[in-house]
Amino acid sequence: MTQPAVIRRVIPRPARELPDAAARPGGMWFYLTTHKKHWLRETAVPLFLKSEHLASAVKPLRSIGRYAVDSGGFSELQYHGCWTRSARQYVDDLRRIWEHIGPYDWAAPQDWMCEPIMIQGGTVGNQHFVGTHLSIAEHQRRTVANYLELRELAPDLPIIPVLQGWELPDYERCVALYERAGIDLSREHTVGLGSVCRRQATREAAAIVTTLAGYGIRLHGFGFKTLGLAKVGHLLASADSAAWSTHARHRPALPGHTHKNCANCLPYALRWRGRVLAGLPTSHHPAPEGSSHA
Ligand SMILES: [Zn+2]
Repeated sequence: MTQPAVIRRVIPRPARELPDAAARPGGMWFYLTTHKKHWLRETAVPLFLKSEHLASAVKPLRSIGRYAVDSGGFSELQYHGCWTRSARQYVDDLRRIWEHIGPYDWAAPQDWMCEPIMIQGGTVGNQHFVGTHLSIAEHQRRTVANYLELRELAPDLPIIPVLQGWELPDYERCVALYERAGIDLSREHTVGLGSVCRRQATREAAAIVTTLAGYGIRLHGFGFKTLGLAKVGHLLASADSAAWSTHARHRPALPGHTHKNCANCLPYALRWRGRVLAGLPTSHHPAPEGSSHA
């Protein structure tokens, strides 16, 4: 039986709101995932970066476009089976990023992914997972508790809640956990959807996204790829993707590019983004905007 998360003082949400979906080009924010923080001053296209890559910025780096911050939970849990950074350390990083780089749209919490391999551990391809050996209910309890702690430590920062689970009823229980803690997810500007990226194009994932979007929750899809976006992209408020880099790794470099392939290349990422957005079913997305390289 799932224990309700500890109920704490309900922290008011940060005043900073994202513009309404109708005001956004194409209705969905689409963040390109990269580990290259200097892209922040080279393109106005939304970017998604891990906090560990941003927090290392010693010199101020002003972003010219929007960006969001990933907490790096996937690798933390994959390699350590737990979070090695405390909530306080993470909030310190988030504050440094805000001051040095500029306001971000949102930052992910230190959530606990619920893929079976994250929990049980094992090897897929050349990727090894140590496993947390906890239950889905415990992952959810920790995810909600961490969100409440981060909000308490940093009510001024736009840290988002993330829904974790594996099957649809798990996600519904997670919505209820937030509710019991005083968080109405339909009032949050963005809610992350966890543990879906490896099965995003499946019927199961479509049912999860459809149900949660039906509750009026503005979902962010973590780690989406072309097929997943084509299936459920119209139900997401935003998504991030690193699929461009994998795409580039298996192809020759663009004409005139001197590197072996374009897996770390901004012009390639922008072209890929333009093609993906143009191909979405309900699309009225424009071509990639705002690149000094385009
Ligand atoms: Zn290139």
